[in-house]
Amino acid sequence: MITYSRRNILATGAAGSLIAAAGVTRVNAETYSSSSPSQSDPGPHDPAQEAINPYDWQSLPTDHGNLGTLRQSFSTVHNRHTDAGWAREVTVRNFPISKKMAGVNMRLPAGAVRELHWHVPAEWAYVTYGTGRITGVDKDANKFIGDVKQGDLWFFPGGVPHSIQGLGPDGCEFILVFNDGNFSEDSTFLITDWFNHTPPEVLAKNFSVPQNTFDKVPKKDLWIFNAPVPGSLQDDLAQSKQPNVPNPYSFAMLDEKPVFKSAGGSVRIADKNNFKATTMAAALVEIEPGGMRELHWHPTSDEWQYYISGTARMGVFHGEGRNNTVEFHPSDVGYIPQSIGHYVENIGKDTLRFLEVFTSAEYADVSLASWMNNVPHELVAAHLNVDLATLQKLAQNKTPVVPL
Ligand code: MN
Ligand code: MN
Repeated sequence: MITYSRRNILATGAAGSLIAAAGVTRVNAETYSSSSPSQSDPGPHDPAQEAINPYDWQSLPTDHGNLGTLRQSFSTVHNRHTDAGWAREVTVRNFPISKKMAGVNMRLPAGAVRELHWHVPAEWAYVTYGTGRITGVDKDANKFIGDVKQGDLWFFPGGVPHSIQGLGPDGCEFILVFNDGNFSEDSTFLITDWFNHTPPEVLAKNFSVPQNTFDKVPKKDLWIFNAPVPGSLQDDLAQSKQPNVPNPYSFAMLDEKPVFKSAGGSVRIADKNNFKATTMAAALVEIEPGGMRELHWHPTSDEWQYYISGTARMGVFHGEGRNNTVEFHPSDVGYIPQSIGHYVENIGKDTLRFLEVFTSAEYADVSLASWMNNVPHELVAAHLNVDLATLQKLAQNKTPVVPL
């Protein structure tokens, strides 16, 4: 196999075609030892770590400055295990740039329950594996009980109490995103916790029952625990005569037609226009090898990203000459502050799938290409020294995933 050092690739000025021709999708760790002493690293180093994001060691020639850490990975953060399931989180504590949103990755095997609880921020979710049953009750005592499967979303508004339980045969795994980067999954309001810290006579009065009714409430909160796999959804729904919530808290995102599709990939959007319950917009982006999510920014919200499959390279433009490039792999989280320019390129051999999540209810992006192609050609030509004939041929509509 032919390997090119980054130096050689970049020196050609035709990096893309050279990489494609050689079947090289990323720079190998061994290229870290360069012939130039000023570019070598003779001291202790960890090739496996360096290979995860090669742009940390040597940025692209167009990069400049340090934007901090734009990538974190669920695979490298502390995991809280229980006998029933587990969860790990990416918050401002281990990902300082993620000020407006925090993420959790949770696994609930069949029967395992995420305890009945609520919290201040809203909870947006994407099911990455299996099936589960979720419940919630709104401020008007309307009920929601629904089953979710891989590719489905759910959304619980802040303060709405809810639960999650794994269904057969193997439960579920999912990603949660909260609209507060400081949120922690370890500090939610748990039903057992409140019972344990309320005087028994107050509980008896509240529910009009004898004082010994709640004698067996567990003395330690449950958080994630084992319970029997629930029966049919119909039976669960039939236990309450209350109406259903006006807008369901779950949404089958994969059933949605993409809002954009080209040979390069597709974009599906779930926001308040089709998922009425949500106040957090999201996009599921699929990009074929070599394809690219175009240069753009989001005018109304920060962007929280979760990489599901494939290998991506993102460039982030922060103004004042600052630009950083970062590589992403499955289970990685990316973050881009509001209105900061970026692109995402599939640099692997497989389809790239990732989620974009926002704190705004309606999805919004501004396309660099649409901007410059919908103002006078002469004006743009005067900035970029591009000839008018070229500008006149560029697409004026938005192309979120650049056609191959
Ligand atoms: Mn929750
Ligand atoms: Mn974006």
